[in-house]
Amino acid sequence: MNNRNLHKRSLAVHAGTRRSQYGEMAEAMFMTQGFVYETAEQAEARFEQVGDDEFIYARYGNPTNRMFEDRIAALEGTEDAFATASGMAAVNGALMAICQSGSHVVAARALFGSNLYVLDIMQRYGVEVTLVDGTDLDQWRAAVREGTTAVFFESVSNPALEVVDITAVAEIAHAHGALVIVDNVFATPVFSRAVEQGADVVIYSTTKHIDGAGRGLGGIICGTRQFVREVAEPYLKHTGGAISPFHSWMMLTGLTTMDLRVRAMSDTAHAIAKDLSGHGALSRLIYPGLPDHPQHELAMQQMGSGGTMVALEVAGGKDAAFAMLNRLNLVLISNNLGDAKSIVTHPATTTHQRLSEGDRARLGISPGMIRLSVGLEDADDLIADLRQALER
Ligand SMILES: *Cc1c(COP(=O)(O)O)cnc(C)c1O
Repeated sequence: MNNRNLHKRSLAVHAGTRRSQYGEMAEAMFMTQGFVYETAEQAEARFEQVGDDEFIYARYGNPTNRMFEDRIAALEGTEDAFATASGMAAVNGALMAICQSGSHVVAARALFGSNLYVLDIMQRYGVEVTLVDGTDLDQWRAAVREGTTAVFFESVSNPALEVVDITAVAEIAHAHGALVIVDNVFATPVFSRAVEQGADVVIYSTTKHIDGAGRGLGGIICGTRQFVREVAEPYLKHTGGAISPFHSWMMLTGLTTMDLRVRAMSDTAHAIAKDLSGHGALSRLIYPGLPDHPQHELAMQQMGSGGTMVALEVAGGKDAAFAMLNRLNLVLISNNLGDAKSIVTHPATTTHQRLSEGDRARLGISPGMIRLSVGLEDADDLIADLRQALER
C-alpha cells in the first residue's frame, strides 16, 4: 500500500497490514515466540542479516508486532517504530539506549511520576539530568549546552496540562546537536504533528488512547530507521522490553477507531470545561482548549485541539476533592486515561504520591486537584454527574 497520499483516518485502518497466504481480512495474531528454519544454513543467514519480512524471536520482532509498529510509524510520519511492553518500557528504552555515563539530559520538570523515576535511575548510572520549567524557553536555552545528548518532555504534561512548544524547544536542542524525545501521550497520534514540529523521537503509552478501552499495556518508540533499529532496538531486544503479539493485535484493533474516539472525547472535554469553568466549587479549571489557559494559543497551533483531559481544582483541598470523587456515579475513580470510560484521578495521593509536597506544588499538583480523563459517554450525562458531585 502506498501511504503517501492517505490521511490519518485511512492509515489508522490500513497501514502496515501484512497478509499471510490465506488472505485473512482481519490482522492475524501470530502468537509465536519463535520461527522455524528450513535448514541450518537458513538459520545462520537470518542471524547474520534479518530480511524485511523475516523474524527470529518475538523479543526481537514478530509479524503482529511489526504490523502495529508500521501502522503507528505511518500515522506519526516516522520511518520506523519499535513496540514495547508498556509506555514506561518505551520511555526507559529510548532514554537508556541513547545515554551513557557522562551524558547530559535536559528534561521538563512537569512529568508523569514514573518518567521522573526513570530520570532518577539514570542519574544513579552517571547521567547528568537538568530539570527545567518546560514552558519557559529561557530555561531551556540556559540548560541545553554543547554535548547535551537529549531533551525530554511531555508535550502536554500529566496532570497539570502544561503545553511545551515542540518547535521552539527543538530549535534550541538542535542548535546544540541534542536529540528531541517527546512523550506525546496527551496529544495522541490524532492531534500530533510532532515530527514536522521538530521532534526526533515520539513516544506513546499505547495503554491510553491507542488501545482506548483499558484492556492492556503497550508502548511505542517512533523515530528514524537509524534510531529505532540501531539505537533503540538493540537495547530493547536484549533487555526484554518487547510487547506481546496479543497486545499488538489489541492495539491494532484499537487504532481503527482511535480517530473517531479521540475527536469525540475531545469535543466532550471541551463542553465539560466550558460548562464547569467558573463553577463556585472550583478554585481553578485547566483545559488547553479554553482561552484562559496560559498556553491556549500554542495548544491550538500545535495540536488544533484542547485534548481529552481536564484538570479541576476543587476549593477546600484534599477533603473536598475526595468528597467530590466519592459522590460521582457515572465517572469512575481509577488511574488510567484515554479510556472509553470517563475516569477521575487524585494525582497528589496516587500517581504523584511519591513526590514531596514541595515538588508537587512546583508541578502545580495541589491537594484539591482532580485529573479528569473524558470518555465516550454522553456529554450531558457527564456534566450532570460532575455538577451533582460538586454541589455541597
Ligand atoms: C501512562 C503514561 C506513561 C506510562 O505508560 P504505561 O503504559 O502505563 O507504562 C508515560 N507517560 C505518560 C504521559 C503517561 O500518561
